[in-house]
Amino acid sequence: MALHRCATSLLIGLGIAACAAAPAHSATPDEIDVARKADLVTANHILASQGIVDGFGHISVRSAKNPTHYFISRSTAPALVTADDIMEIDLEDHPIDARGRNSYLERFIHSEIYKARPDVISVVHSHSAAVIPFSVSQVQLRPISHMAGFLVRAVPVFEIRQAGGNETDMLIRNKALGAALAHTLGSGTAVLMRGHGDVVVGNSVRTALLHAVYTDLDARLETQALQLGGPITFLNETEAAKVGEINDSQVERPWDLWKQALTESRPGP
Ligand code: MN
Repeated sequence: MALHRCATSLLIGLGIAACAAAPAHSATPDEIDVARKADLVTANHILASQGIVDGFGHISVRSAKNPTHYFISRSTAPALVTADDIMEIDLEDHPIDARGRNSYLERFIHSEIYKARPDVISVVHSHSAAVIPFSVSQVQLRPISHMAGFLVRAVPVFEIRQAGGNETDMLIRNKALGAALAHTLGSGTAVLMRGHGDVVVGNSVRTALLHAVYTDLDARLETQALQLGGPITFLNETEAAKVGEINDSQVERPWDLWKQALTESRPGP
């Protein structure tokens, strides 16, 4: 991204052929995937350290080399994920490199959203406790904090009974349920799952992580505002969309902080 900014800000109108700080070549799809998988491992740890996931929940990233493939951990707690746990799976649910490993039961959340949304590069599913009340009541989760502007408007709620009947186990365990969830997400950034949690998306691992953290915060703030009573003033759609775009562009700042905090919290040798 630094290269991109350099190119657009300095080269346009100046006729300069190259930026001094630019690498000699653009990253290849293989190189991009190496970086995406490294971010995926780190994001698993950050989601746990930020309290968004516990033993459950997962994050994935689309492959740059094969956009109909994605990377996700084998079934394990996010805080424990290592590079060896990362699996590659295609969007029809064929693992590329299973080596005896199984991924999460609810991996269809990821594959079906990648199918429906070519713009999505990363998907987070969590059981964020703060959003559950908004998934089971008539109170809509809306952007109340400018840090959740990316929500733009009221977050839709996925009711699994509409797609799977009254006798499911609540889990997105097949393509049909994943597709129905992706349909409810629509073109938005977040979808709540009734009595279960939420899914957020982004155009990078770091942005999806940002959205997961601030969806949780927004839910807590709206709950607090409701307790104060009286009408609540939410961000309007223009305010939300504008500030959401600005915050997404600043994603490196919290990423660096959260990544550094992981290092500091690890016990020494
Ligand atoms: Mn779940």
